[in-house]
Amino acid sequence: CGIVGYVGPTRSDRALGVVMDGLTRLEYRGYDSAGVALVGDDEVVGQKRAGKLSNLVGALEAQELPLTGTAIGHTRWATHGGPTDANAHPHRGGPDRKLALVHNGIIENFYALKKQLLAEGVTFSSETDTEVVAHLVARACERTGDLTEAMREVVNTLQGAFTLLAVHADQPHVVVGARRNSPLVVGIGEGENFLGSDVAAFIGYTRQALELGQDQIVTISPDGYEVINFDGTPSEGRAYEVTWDAAA
Ligand code: GLU
Repeated sequence: CGIVGYVGPTRSDRALGVVMDGLTRLEYRGYDSAGVALVGDDEVVGQKRAGKLSNLVGALEAQELPLTGTAIGHTRWATHGGPTDANAHPHRGGPDRKLALVHNGIIENFYALKKQLLAEGVTFSSETDTEVVAHLVARACERTGDLTEAMREVVNTLQGAFTLLAVHADQPHVVVGARRNSPLVVGIGEGENFLGSDVAAFIGYTRQALELGQDQIVTISPDGYEVINFDGTPSEGRAYEVTWDAAA
């Protein structure tokens, strides 16, 4: 029930720290599973676990992790598929699982999309509505070579409510987010930028925020952000300063 994304200085442990901190601050919303994905050299490395964040921390500690500037994280409140490790996000897509994607909400037309992907030979590793989006964006990425354009094509085929974030090993310095009927906020830093389902995700790091409108996509990089509408036209979002107390 929470989403965090980060891009900043490469080859550091800050990305993982920021994302875990954001997930901790979003715990108050409730969740049954959690996961993260880090973009390393030519690969995306992830861990996801049912249960408390401490289960995820344990899994991360047991693994060698790449130093990176780019990461996404998720806490899940299961709607499609039980609260298991396999159903936890991020979900992966593409050859070598180069894409990782997290989602809050419900993809109402996922079953029709899943049937079509199954018929085309795609194998699924979860029971979620979300995994179809991971495969679709990965495939669109293969075709277009661009994660933002891939996200734009796919969200136009989805019905329901979603906040989505995606990362791809071939574009290691961006995180792409999209929203419909579900919130997404950008946190603007210096040499780093943030995404959250709620400003709590990044309030420990910046108070400069940008709220995305309905049916918008944002691409963040260490030095900036770009907002477009689902039809591809440029947009700006609504900038504001978060005034409430970070200690809360
Ligand atoms: N519908 C998705 C799932 O069941 C996302 C749930 C959520 O909002 O956390 O995995």
